[in-house]
Amino acid sequence: RNGFKRESYILSVDVGTTYVRCHVYDKNANIKGSCSKKVTLFYPQPGWVEMDPEELWQGFVAVVKGAVHDSGLQMGQMEALGISTQRGTFSTWDRKTGTPFHNFISWQDLRAAELVGAWNRSCTMKAIHGVMKFLHVLTRRKRFQAASLVVFSTQHVTMRLAWILQHCAEVRRAVREGTCCFGTIDTWLLYKLSKGAVHATDYSNASTTGIFDSYQMCWSEFLCQVVSLPLSIFPTVENTGHNYGSSDASIFGVPIPIMSVMADQQAAMFGECCFDTGDVKITMGTGTFMDINTGNKPHTSVAGLYPLVGWKIGPEVVYLAEGNAADTGTAIKWAQKLDLFSDVQETEAMASSVKDSDGVCFVPSFSGLQAPLNDPKACASFMGLKPSTTKSHLVRAILESVAFRNKQLYDIMLRETHIPITRIRADGGVCTNDFIMQLTADLLGKKIDRPSHFDMSSLGAAFVAGLAVGRCACALAPPAAPLIKHTSSTLPL
Ligand code: ADP
Repeated sequence: RNGFKRESYILSVDVGTTYVRCHVYDKNANIKGSCSKKVTLFYPQPGWVEMDPEELWQGFVAVVKGAVHDSGLQMGQMEALGISTQRGTFSTWDRKTGTPFHNFISWQDLRAAELVGAWNRSCTMKAIHGVMKFLHVLTRRKRFQAASLVVFSTQHVTMRLAWILQHCAEVRRAVREGTCCFGTIDTWLLYKLSKGAVHATDYSNASTTGIFDSYQMCWSEFLCQVVSLPLSIFPTVENTGHNYGSSDASIFGVPIPIMSVMADQQAAMFGECCFDTGDVKITMGTGTFMDINTGNKPHTSVAGLYPLVGWKIGPEVVYLAEGNAADTGTAIKWAQKLDLFSDVQETEAMASSVKDSDGVCFVPSFSGLQAPLNDPKACASFMGLKPSTTKSHLVRAILESVAFRNKQLYDIMLRETHIPITRIRADGGVCTNDFIMQLTADLLGKKIDRPSHFDMSSLGAAFVAGLAVGRCACALAPPAAPLIKHTSSTLPL
């Protein structure tokens, strides 16, 4: 009325494996307020990893309220909400009552390991591989060659969902009665935010489940038939930047439009402004995720890189090829548990205090070795131990192993995609370690940019939400500061 319009802000929540974090961003992507809460993981049996859906929801609401309170702003000034979530963690619930049938089954959960093994050895898989090989010989299409090598893994949703359907009679009944909803964490949050009105996900999240066909851009009917998954339980797939509706007014006091939903690695890629074909980002947290922007076409890999939808905004789809190493932060944390050091911050100085690892090598494979080795049974090990080996040598070997895995992933990306790499940007907790960053830059022979603030998934979801309400993400993006420069390798490789 008096011509003064209150400034509006973007809320963004990142649901990680360790923390749920919320930031309030202004129009220049400055953080005005933050709040985070630790995620509780449950280990009901060896190898099982779960999260309580209600606790997750309460935590989500608490961090949103906490961040707005921290910013000193009003909830009514929040123009849009963006949500980034860990991938491949799912639950199922009753469509009418919203009651979950079981806890969230984490992407780290190994309960389906036997099922995965049985399927990968099965005649059905052998027959599928045989047909795909034949089609490859006939057509020379790389897609058939890749399909002839595909195997199931516990990290994808497919086999863990098959396990739930086998073991949970309540879920089977709900499927029969048409009342079963499947959802990754984003879908659950959308369902709760809309008080049950919305059952949706976005392309980036769907493409990480293993059940989505990134080539046809729909849930894979073929896979669902082979593994007996009911198509009826899957959510509608929407654009990454999309008006998902507003949160019910009773939750935050005012309705807040939900304008982006994104899987965390894809969100980090967007947050790092890796918009162009050939841009690479390396996230080093619990695990390492290296992604290359492959443009408007999915990349078909025979070496174990995974084709993902990066984001779909308007009619444009951007694809990524992703390689991962499951044990990055986990290897460092394990060494901490063994009392090799008391704080992870000490590792950099310890590694630099010795001139080399004294011939000690560490294989970071508590969960097998992923691309390009693709050996789920590879076991973690120290090699080359001597009476002269000190704690510093062991720590150095662990940090080196993180950089060596980066080099393996990078090389396979170069070899397979034939895309010239334009820029490399890093993020995640482990990228604060200068020793790992310098060694990675040396091994890659490239400069790696490290941005000044590290919550890239949250920033990416905020950018997409900002775009969806008419703000220009590129203008919002802070320049990624080139903190690490390439220096030539001095390692005797
Ligand atoms: P996630 O998002 O997967 O939960 P983060 O990106 O928050 O992980 O990173 C957390 C990991 O980073 C932890 O495993 C922690 O041990 C590791 N970390 C943090 N700082 C350092 C450091 N300076 N050196 C080595 N590792 C570090």
